[in-house]
Amino acid sequence: MEEEGTLDIVIVGAGISGLSTAVGLHRPGHATDILVFLNDIQVLVGCDGVYSVVGKWLGFKTPATTARLAIRGLTHFPLGHGFGKKFFQFYGNGVRSGFIPCDHNTVYWFLTHTSTDIDEETNPEILKEFVLNKIKDLPENIKSVVETTDLDSMVMSRLKYRPPWELLWSNITKDNVCVAGDALHPMTPDIGQGGCSAMEDGVILARCLGEAIKAKHLKSETKEEEEEEDSYKRIEEGLKKYAGERKWRSIDLITTAYTVGLIQQSRGKWMNLFRDRFLSSFLSRMLLKKSHFDCGSLVP
Ligand SMILES: Cc1cc2nc3c(=O)[nH]c(=O)nc-3n(C[C@H](O)[C@H](O)[C@H](O)COP(=O)(O)OP(=O)(O)OC[C@H]3O[C@@H](n4cnc5c(N)ncnc54)[C@H](O)[C@@H]3O)c2cc1C
Repeated sequence: MEEEGTLDIVIVGAGISGLSTAVGLHRPGHATDILVFLNDIQVLVGCDGVYSVVGKWLGFKTPATTARLAIRGLTHFPLGHGFGKKFFQFYGNGVRSGFIPCDHNTVYWFLTHTSTDIDEETNPEILKEFVLNKIKDLPENIKSVVETTDLDSMVMSRLKYRPPWELLWSNITKDNVCVAGDALHPMTPDIGQGGCSAMEDGVILARCLGEAIKAKHLKSETKEEEEEEDSYKRIEEGLKKYAGERKWRSIDLITTAYTVGLIQQSRGKWMNLFRDRFLSSFLSRMLLKKSHFDCGSLVP
């Protein structure tokens, strides 16, 4: 495909958001030079995850730690797990757990809880015992997933998120710098949208930058100095457009994930009753609705 123009773009971080932005920019034929010398940068995209240094530079605070923790594991069944493609989720009484087959032989599982008795340093044997104790009333075949997990295939972490109101007054972009993915909207894992929304960011950011590059190409007759100034302004505008498109989507996802987690993991008798009687089908519909987001095409 013929190149439409060049722009020096530095993407910090090669996770989901960084790679989708890079792929998004390359697809329509925009050349992106990944530079090492900071003086040459025309655009800096912070895709550097939850503890983003670029986000910090933009003024974002370190993500807030919730009272909840997650223990996650991966179990290998050499002869097959027998769950087919079914995803199992159990919640209530302060516990939320899920079991998701990845392929014929592997199951990914998670359990979230509010315990303060364990932390990142806790011995994996104790972690496993903790999980087994919390799921003791679940069916035997589900419990066996945790029982057969290797101790080095488990990990525990405190759940973090960006308080949504921070996005109301913080800068998603400043000058020619912006953030995407977890650097922008770290959220609790309750609706499984962290990675998906990082990809949405990539598509929309690539489109906004693509428009700026295209406009530069159309004006290629202008003098070099004028073009440099003009180019800077267009990039700034492109990044502002991206920020405008992502702000409310990010606020929506962070808030929904937090609320769903709170309701599903609730211990309260009345909340549990209300959830089980009235909210369960609403919550499942909402999960699907949130994932059905059309971020448009790469090329406007
Ligand atoms: C166990 C688990 C299960 C999950 N399940 C789902 C799911 O089902 N669905 C879903 O949508 N999401 C899920 N997520 C969330 C999803 O993984 C994240 O939201 C997503 O990975 C964020 O992508 P990212 O590119 O923004 O950040 P990251 O994936 O964190 O990538 C950031 C990258 O930047 C690098 N980096 C950091 N600092 C610097 C620096 N200073 N310089 C250079 N590089 C740097 C890091 O090494 C890393 O490679 C899950 C997360 C976990 C932990």
